[in-house]
Amino acid sequence: SLRSSAELIRAEEPVLAHNYHPLPVVVARAEGAWVEDVEGRRYLDMLAGYSALNFGHRHPALIEAAHRQLDQLTLTSRAFHNDRLAGFAESLAALTGLDMVLPMNTGAEAVESAVKVARKWAYDVKGVPADRATIVVAADNFHGRTTTIVSFSTDESARAGFGPFTPGFRVVPYNDLAALEAAIDETTAAVLIEPIQGEAGVVIPDDGYLRGVREVTRRTGCLFIADEIQSGLGRTGRTLAVEHEDVVPDVVLLGKALGGGIVPVSAVVARREVLQVLRPGEHGSTFGGNPLAAAVGSAVVELLETGEFQRRAEEAGVVLRDGLTALVGKGVRSFRARGLWAGVDIDPAIGTGREISESLMREGILVKDTHGSTIRLAPPLTITNEDLTMALGTLEQILRKG
Ligand code: PLP
Repeated sequence: SLRSSAELIRAEEPVLAHNYHPLPVVVARAEGAWVEDVEGRRYLDMLAGYSALNFGHRHPALIEAAHRQLDQLTLTSRAFHNDRLAGFAESLAALTGLDMVLPMNTGAEAVESAVKVARKWAYDVKGVPADRATIVVAADNFHGRTTTIVSFSTDESARAGFGPFTPGFRVVPYNDLAALEAAIDETTAAVLIEPIQGEAGVVIPDDGYLRGVREVTRRTGCLFIADEIQSGLGRTGRTLAVEHEDVVPDVVLLGKALGGGIVPVSAVVARREVLQVLRPGEHGSTFGGNPLAAAVGSAVVELLETGEFQRRAEEAGVVLRDGLTALVGKGVRSFRARGLWAGVDIDPAIGTGREISESLMREGILVKDTHGSTIRLAPPLTITNEDLTMALGTLEQILRKG
């Protein structure tokens, strides 16, 4: 770049919407688990694009799939078929153990699409009276930023100033099966939850909760929609986080890592009975299922079919868990971890999550805070044990300095 990091950060201020508060690092290049800023300083990426970079930056197989496709065909719209989409849908359905795929682009679009599909299923299949369908969601959820999705957020900063809101949602506490069941009635189309709440601070429900959600939804005749946009595709040591409880939802939402960190690719994956409610003209997306997305998405599924990344997440996850366990009482209040994913509550006396993130950045480690004094660790699944141990050592030093 011709401009320095400081100049580029200053240049954003008047021309970019201030809807983010990024750490003051300007990334220019990356490979694997490492990124490099404009001045050539290297940082270990312990956020991995909020799990959009599960396979690391520029994984060779994914870059090659993208290059190959760029040389053939990039976009058709769904007005025509393209030669990549069938294979992508077949492999994604097989990977998740479900039947049909609705390809979209961003995570929020997958969630929006699932809300529409669940409502249509409620009217067409379940027989809920027109415009009466309800969807039960969990407090402290994060499903995206559209008007309908923020309608059922419980985070005031996500909602305030953005009403009027979409009706038809019931919010219950997360990890509370009794409250969930009490909120379900004959109008309920679906229960929509994250198997692990990522943005809330990697909140892991009690063992049995996901099995319970499956049992309650089956018994009461509504759909179980699992938002695996952040938890899915290897992050927790399984392809899907619901696999930890051997649960198969009716609908699984995928995004982030599905695009290999290259292009936005999301999907609603579901049983045939559910997705078949959509008829031509009722839903769509110009870019959804485009050949470049399908080619990269297919390459992502191929990587996951090997099981190598899930295994790596589980193995490196042990290193992460052991390292964090050793820090409890030494600046870490508590933590929650599954696979290569952790929410770490720092002693507020030492600093806010933001301050800790800035200290780590100065030492060459990139993380992101969530709420208050919680930081989230979600490195690429390709990170080496050495790099992970180094990052934990740096965290230890920063906490010790206080
Ligand atoms: N759902 C979950 C669980 C997420 O974590 C996110 C993003 O953080 C989304 C949905 C929204 O995805 P996107 O930012 O691609 O719209």
